[in-house]
Amino acid sequence: MNNDRTNAPINKKRRRVSGISWRLFGMLTLFVVLTLIVIWTFQVALLNRFYESSKLDEFHQTDEQIFAVVDSEEQLRPTVYMRSVKTDSCIRVFRISDGAPIEIADYDTNMNCFIHRADGMELNRLCESVIEKGGSYTRRMSNSIGDSTVIVTIHVAASKGADGNEYVILQESALLPLSATVTTLEHQFGWIMCILIMGALVMALLLSRLICLPMERMSRSARRLAKGEYDANFFGGGYREAEELAEALNYAASELAKTDNLQKELVANISHDLRTPLTMIKGYGEVMRDIPGESTPENMQVIIDETERLTELVNDMLDLSKIRAGTRKPEPEVFDLTEAISAVMLRYEKFTEQQEYSIIFEKTENVSVNADRTMILQVVYNLVNNALNYTGEDKKVLIRQTVSNGKVRVSVTDTGVGIAPEDIPYIWDRYYKVDKVHKRAVVGTGLGLSIVKGILASHGAPYGVESVIDQGSTFWFELDAVYDGDFEEKLT
Ligand code: ADP
Repeated sequence: MNNDRTNAPINKKRRRVSGISWRLFGMLTLFVVLTLIVIWTFQVALLNRFYESSKLDEFHQTDEQIFAVVDSEEQLRPTVYMRSVKTDSCIRVFRISDGAPIEIADYDTNMNCFIHRADGMELNRLCESVIEKGGSYTRRMSNSIGDSTVIVTIHVAASKGADGNEYVILQESALLPLSATVTTLEHQFGWIMCILIMGALVMALLLSRLICLPMERMSRSARRLAKGEYDANFFGGGYREAEELAEALNYAASELAKTDNLQKELVANISHDLRTPLTMIKGYGEVMRDIPGESTPENMQVIIDETERLTELVNDMLDLSKIRAGTRKPEPEVFDLTEAISAVMLRYEKFTEQQEYSIIFEKTENVSVNADRTMILQVVYNLVNNALNYTGEDKKVLIRQTVSNGKVRVSVTDTGVGIAPEDIPYIWDRYYKVDKVHKRAVVGTGLGLSIVKGILASHGAPYGVESVIDQGSTFWFELDAVYDGDFEEKLT
C-alpha cells in the first residue's frame, strides 16, 4: 500500500511527459532535415548560379592578369596560355590600331570556339561595342557545331595599356549542362536523408540510454530514500552532470540521515525531559493528596520548579521554531548592553549564593548597541546557563565585555569539560548534545545554542567558541558599538 502511494505521483508525471529518446530523436531529425535543406539549397537549387558566378570571377581575374602585361611581349603569351589552360577557356587579345583590332596573342582550348571562328566583321562588332560601353560585358550564347549545340559564355573586356593603346580581350568558355548532375544529387539526397534519419534514431536511442540509465538507477535509490532507507547510494553514469547530481543526492541522503538521527535523539531526550518533571509533579501531587501533613511549601516548590522546567522546554522549542520560520524578526533599539548584562547578573544572584557558584562580569566601560534587547539578553542567558551547567569544580563563570574598533565583544568563559574540536561544528545544531548519555544533573533542552545561532545570525553578528578539553570553553559574540554621536546621526 505504502509502496503504491510513493510511486503514484512519479508514474502520473511519467505518463504526461514524453520520453527523452523521442525528444532526442525529434531534435536530431530536425537537425538532419535543416542541414540537408541548407546543403540542398547550395548544392542543387543554387548550383547553376554559383557555377556561372565562379566563371565570371575567373573571366575578371584573367582580364586583370592579361591587362597587367598586355604591353610586354615576353609576358603576354605565357600569361594568356596559363590562364587559358587554367580556366579551360579560349582567349584572344587585340590591340586596336586605327579603329581595327590587330591580334597580338591567343590560345584556344576548343578548336570550334565561336571567338576563333568569328569573321572580321563579327570581331569588329564585338570590339567596338565594348570600347563604346567601356569596361567589360559577358553574354551567353549557343554555339552550334555540326549536330551538337553547346551553351557558351563570351566575355569581352577593353582597357587602355600603359603605352596609351586600346586593348581588347575576348574569352569564351563552355557552360557545362548541370541538369544531369542536379538530378543525380536530388536522387542522392533522398538516400542520404533516409540514412541520416536512421542514424538519428540510433543515436537518440544510444544517447537516451546513456542519460537515462543513471537516472533510472538514481530514481530507484531515491524511492528507497523516500522509504527511510538512508543507506541508499546514488551512482552517477560516468558523465559530469550525472556524477554531480549523484553527489548532491548522496549529500542530501547523508544530511537526511543526520537529521533523522537528531530527531530520534530529540524524541528520546525530550521525552526524558518531559517525563522526569511530569513524574515528579505526579509523585509529589499524590504524596500531598494521600499523606496528611505532606502539603508543605517545600513540596509545592518542587512542583512549581518542575512546572517551570517544562515551560522552559516548551518555550525553547517555540522560540526556535519561530526564529527558524522567520516569524520572529529582530526589532532593534539602542540600549545600554553593559547595564542589561548587569541586570541579568542580578537575577542569578540568589542561585549563585545558594549553589555557591561565582559569576564575574568584567567590563571597561558602558557600551550601547543597536539590537533587539530581548533577543540579545536571551543569547546571554543561554550562554551563561550553559557555562553554569558545564563549568568545572571551581564553579566559576566569567563574563567579559571588551570594546575595540567600534565593536563590542561579549564572551562567557567556564572552566569545565570543554568541547572536542570534532564536536564544535555541530554544537550549534538543534538537539545536538556532545554527551549522548542524558545526565539529569546537566539540564538542557539541546536547543539553547541553536537559538543563540538563530538570533545572532538574524542580527548579522559574528559569534564563535574556543574550547580546550578539560580546561573549559569561551563562547563569544560581537555587536557594533553605538556611541552618542552615532545615535544622534541615526535619529536625524
Ligand atoms: P543544552 O541544552 O544541551 O546545553 P545547547 O544547545 O545549549 O543544549 O548546547 C548544545 C551542546 O553543546 C550541549 O549539549 C553541550 O554538549 C555543548 N555545550 C554547550 N555549552 C557548553 C559549555 N559551556 N561547555 C561544554 N559543552 C557545552
